Amino acid sequence: MLIMMKQQTSEDLSTILNSLKRAHLKHGPASAALRRDRLLRAVQLLSENHLALSAAINQDFGHRSAYQTLLADVLSSIGALKFAAEHVEQWMQPEVVAAPAEGMQTWIQQQPLGVVGIISPWNFPLNLAFGPLAGIFAAGNTAMLKPSELTPHTSELLAELVARYFKPHELVVVLGDAEVGQAFSALPFDHLVFTGSSAVGKHIMRTAAENLVPVTLELGGKSPVVIAESADVQQAAQRIMTVKTFNAGQICVSPDYLFLSDAQEKAFVAAAQQFISESFPSVQHNNDYTSIVSPRHFERLVALLSDAQSKGAKIISLAPEGEPDIDAVTRKIAPHLILNVTDEMLIMQEEIFGPLLPVKTYQLFEETINYINAHPRPLAAYYFGQDQAQQQHFAIHTTSGALVINDVMTHASIDTLPFGGVGASGIGAYHGVHGFRRFTHAKAVVVQSMDGASNLRLRAPYEQKQATLTALFNN
Ligand code: NAD
Repeated sequence: MLIMMKQQTSEDLSTILNSLKRAHLKHGPASAALRRDRLLRAVQLLSENHLALSAAINQDFGHRSAYQTLLADVLSSIGALKFAAEHVEQWMQPEVVAAPAEGMQTWIQQQPLGVVGIISPWNFPLNLAFGPLAGIFAAGNTAMLKPSELTPHTSELLAELVARYFKPHELVVVLGDAEVGQAFSALPFDHLVFTGSSAVGKHIMRTAAENLVPVTLELGGKSPVVIAESADVQQAAQRIMTVKTFNAGQICVSPDYLFLSDAQEKAFVAAAQQFISESFPSVQHNNDYTSIVSPRHFERLVALLSDAQSKGAKIISLAPEGEPDIDAVTRKIAPHLILNVTDEMLIMQEEIFGPLLPVKTYQLFEETINYINAHPRPLAAYYFGQDQAQQQHFAIHTTSGALVINDVMTHASIDTLPFGGVGASGIGAYHGVHGFRRFTHAKAVVVQSMDGASNLRLRAPYEQKQATLTALFNN
């Protein structure tokens, strides 16, 4: 059930941003100690309130596995914030670079951008707010966050907690729907980070362009999985279905569709069936299995299934015996494999964002690369197989935000790797030092030498100097 959230007006938003900007200028760049303090206060907010936050997320989803919330929302955010707190002092050091002339000094100063706007989605409502915030705070910025209206209890609670743990010039949560989101993206931030769908990403970029606000867009798309002939099909099925059922597939880097050879299809289906029956003896009455977030999202997934079926796909439900495949009351959809898919089916056109896995077969491995390259660049690509030459070939000839070999989604929780898309799946990456750099201005600083040689070179009269330069070409 959706609750009515308090909506902020665009005047409210402008007033908040102006006051954050004034405070940023007045206080100057935050010291390392203040940055660490902000990061650790965010850790404290999450640690002290994780049960209430988990209950709010559960209420918003209809049902959200408490383990999944703890692991992928609470602890992943705490991990990112602590990692930034540990490294911030080292990251913010000026970087001395080679100077072109004796007596000259050159360095890169890591300067905060100012006030950063964050628009976050519903699928991991804490992770996708606090993840960017780790980089934003580490870089010495302050922030304004607009969480999703689809998780109203969580968003309201976040607003209340942030007001308790942070001063109004450090971090402010504003509440509202897409309309508020639109007004939010029209504000003259120093940077705007948006996590959400590619369709909304286009609006954000267009609106932000009016103020030349630089954007980081963390979008979605269709992330392919390829099982090569050298792969262990059973192990691949287990790893793929583990992630495809996590958060009921409502993950931006979830395996969206699968490629395997004709000869592997039967073995994959059997392994997936066995794995799901062991992991989820019940789907409908199992607290480990998460619901689809809203009736609208549920209906969309059901429509994808019936569209595929009407166009000739073979649907294999992995629902436990005696349980319905889908239930509109619990909004739980059992995992499904969809065989014989074609590009005419909507399920092969839209990002799925649910526990449905289309399976395509290939005769020659190269077909998989050609198919991926003929479609928008995905947020992640996954390759299963032991053939190292083919792994290399796949890595070189496909372009995706990330590539994971012999697993799926693993990269998202590794703080040392950049996380982001490429092409249609996004602009700019964050996590760890990559987040710090994303939200920092790398300012070039030069101290001229006493003799000012490079300045003298520009000084008229030029006749003698030009003769010297021309002589360079005569040798
Ligand atoms: P969404 O794009 O519908 O909404 C995201 C946020 O944008 C919400 O806060 C919403 O209120 C706001 N919004 C909606 N319309 C807006 C507009 N016109 N102007 C400004 N703001 C607007 O996305 P969603 O349904 O919440 O999330 C699912 C999508 O997010 C999927 O496509 C998924 O792949 C993507 N996603 C990407 C990542 C990533 O890190 N790359 C992570 C999670 C989700």
